[in-house]
Amino acid sequence: MGELTNCPKCDKLFVQTKFRDVCDTCFKEEEKIFEMVYKYIRKKENRTATMAQVVEDTGVDEELLIKFVKTGRLKLAQFPNLGYPCEKCGATIKEGKLCGSCAELLRSELSSFQKEEARKRELLERERKATYYTKDERD
Ligand SMILES: [Zn+2]
Ligand SMILES: [Zn+2]
Repeated sequence: MGELTNCPKCDKLFVQTKFRDVCDTCFKEEEKIFEMVYKYIRKKENRTATMAQVVEDTGVDEELLIKFVKTGRLKLAQFPNLGYPCEKCGATIKEGKLCGSCAELLRSELSSFQKEEARKRELLERERKATYYTKDERD
């Protein structure tokens, strides 16, 4: 079952589903644009175009192009120079949300956060035990 919501593009009310995040009109519009982009990129001389080139030559919003890439409609394996920006630094990437170095950074931040959490838990645990023993001695 879909959910009634406003179209992020034109603000019209529509039923959002897993496969449809814009209203009917905008969806059809996107389809048309996709066809155009696809026709363009399939040409031999355009296969190696970068995102910037595609935007310039087709006049399509980069955001929409990124959406086509992220939803897997434009297969990056077929078009070696296409990609979308890393969510942190904007470097062009082909999979995931972050580029290699940002992912690495996040991993190390995460692990130090986890260590800190573990230390806090240990302290709490020690405190809890201490209270428990004190109470025990009293009984
Ligand atoms: Zn719409
Ligand atoms: Zn990055």
